[in-house]
Amino acid sequence: MIDSKQLLGQKAEREVMACIGCNDCLLACPLPEKKFVTIAELNAAVELPIVVGQGIVQFLAACTQCRQCVPACPADLSRADMVLYNKMKVEDTVPNHMLPLQFGGTVTQSAWMLDGLAGQLTQLPIFAGTAVGDLRRLLLTVTLRQLVPGEELCREGEFHERLYVVLSGSVEQTALEFASSSSAQLRSSASSPSWPTSPSPSRSPRSR
Ligand code: SF4
Ligand code: SF4
Repeated sequence: MIDSKQLLGQKAEREVMACIGCNDCLLACPLPEKKFVTIAELNAAVELPIVVGQGIVQFLAACTQCRQCVPACPADLSRADMVLYNKMKVEDTVPNHMLPLQFGGTVTQSAWMLDGLAGQLTQLPIFAGTAVGDLRRLLLTVTLRQLVPGEELCREGEFHERLYVVLSGSVEQTALEFASSSSAQLRSSASSPSWPTSPSPSRSPRSR
């Protein structure tokens, strides 16, 4: 099984060794939070098992992986990858907890624990071969949703940059002829759940 964090860590450690500390990558970074960190702190954090310090954690959390820092490097290094490795370490310190559930216009607690759902997702074909740690990090960026029968998720023609994973129940996709199509849609329908609860997670496009 490929552990993306381990692979990224090996690359980040090599790149830290090659970094000349010129600061060009941070100058190119659009984040206002960059004022809280230095290249020395970011490089040192790559070598540490955990990342501490309010300023650096704030910067890592804010990083959108826009990669504007990458072409700025005169040594052809990826500050974005070094930051991502540190960001993963911060995300891995999030304790196991009940995941929230969006149901209509309200948010309640789901029946899913973070670690439990990450383990369950490894059983799905779409995530076959994915490390449970990667799925755990992914779950920190998703929204669990419970739909009522007939509720529409999206309509054909709408911009909808989301991946939906159905944990239980089912969804139905319908489409009309092109000439008269105005109501192709993806909507929920009632069926027997395969797992004990029925949230449907959608992943935010801004997460990483
Ligand atoms: S990838 Fe992160 S560190 Fe690099 S420029 Fe974008 S926000 Fe800044
Ligand atoms: S631009 Fe490249 S060499 Fe300069 S500090 Fe950033 S990663 Fe290091």
